[in-house]
Amino acid sequence: MSGSPIWHPFTQHGLEVRIPTIVRTEGAALYTADGRRVIDAISSWWVTTHGHSHPGIMAAIRETAETLDQIIFAGWTHPPAEAVAEGLRALMPPELTRIFFSDSGSTAVEVALKMALGYWLHRGEPRDRIVVMEHSYHGDTIGAMSVGARGVFNRAYAPLLFDVATIPFPAADSEQQTLDALERHCRRGAAAFIVEPLVLGAGGMLMYPASVLAEMRRICAAHGVLFIADEVMTAWGRTGTLLACAQAGVVPDILCLSKGLTGGAVPLAVTMAAEPIYAAHYADDRARMFFHSSSYTANPIACAAAAANLAIWREEPVLDRVAALSGMQGRHLASIAEMSGVSNPRQSGTIVALDLETPNTGYLSELGPRLQTQFVERDILLRPLGNTLYVMPPYCIGSDDLDRIFDAIGEAIRVTR
Ligand SMILES: *Cc1c(COP(=O)(O)O)cnc(C)c1O
Repeated sequence: MSGSPIWHPFTQHGLEVRIPTIVRTEGAALYTADGRRVIDAISSWWVTTHGHSHPGIMAAIRETAETLDQIIFAGWTHPPAEAVAEGLRALMPPELTRIFFSDSGSTAVEVALKMALGYWLHRGEPRDRIVVMEHSYHGDTIGAMSVGARGVFNRAYAPLLFDVATIPFPAADSEQQTLDALERHCRRGAAAFIVEPLVLGAGGMLMYPASVLAEMRRICAAHGVLFIADEVMTAWGRTGTLLACAQAGVVPDILCLSKGLTGGAVPLAVTMAAEPIYAAHYADDRARMFFHSSSYTANPIACAAAAANLAIWREEPVLDRVAALSGMQGRHLASIAEMSGVSNPRQSGTIVALDLETPNTGYLSELGPRLQTQFVERDILLRPLGNTLYVMPPYCIGSDDLDRIFDAIGEAIRVTR
């Protein structure tokens, strides 16, 4: 064996892959061991919100590490976790009264699904059918894969995945079909509907209008079916508002948050639940407690980072920065949308995406990796999803860096045609 023994995620080591070493991060940039400055145009896979190594978040991590490391969270608590809970209660919709900690977006989704089934069982009317949207992504653990799209990335594990009811993606000409399918499954007594609000991320940055989200929420409520919003990617200003759900004026029964919860510095997740879901588990019977924990639940250092992130949201004009970035993104998108070879240009807040017309689409399209290599050669981190190019930078990115990203994209469109 030569080189590093590390087996990287979503990486085919049998193809020639160069793995750059990053030694420092700051703002919108990653610095390599050999002295290059790489623009992080995808917020390090959608986690970095304000910018890398935000001084307030890094200071909170340092300070907390002086006094606290991991402690058991079953029946014990600590100030950073309480600060996060208090901060979330102040910032998030008041209907979401309960906060359950975990470590990643995938576990936040697993927790949401378990809460939903526990809710129905403890009410004495067990239900287990989960309704999902076509092209969705909810994580890579078995339960999260089960409620996500099936494809090459989970074909080997298909025998382990549970059955779900799938409604079509609400494309512009078929929104009613989506709503009708949801209504049908709700009428049959589904336990819950889980959905990514406004933007389906890993499914290809597919976007649908807030009016459809509002209508889906209404249908679930009318049938008492729990509405789970997976805002792991869309929250924290990504789509222009703190939560994407806000644009539809809806509040879910269960909300999954992770990626930007710590500003993207360290892993942490929460699943927030409306009171009836907590109430269904609340009893003097131990058999009804919520049976979920991971060893590092509510890690104090991660919680300190999240509390610092919440303070930034309270004290700084984050949504003004998001609006300014969205404006710049929109102008860049408009200027390349007209290029031939580009289809379906779209935007939701700080996210812009477009599809490259190519005969070979899909996740395994050769185009993506080839373009990715070209971008890295220009010191830009972009990672196309199949033939979909998207830009989702940290909110602190400067106009010079954005110009460079879109110059590189324009160039890529020209050479691809
Ligand atoms: C990234 C993502 C997840 C999974 O989060 P991890 O932290 O990678 O486990 C779940 N849902 C959505 C919508 C995501 O974008």
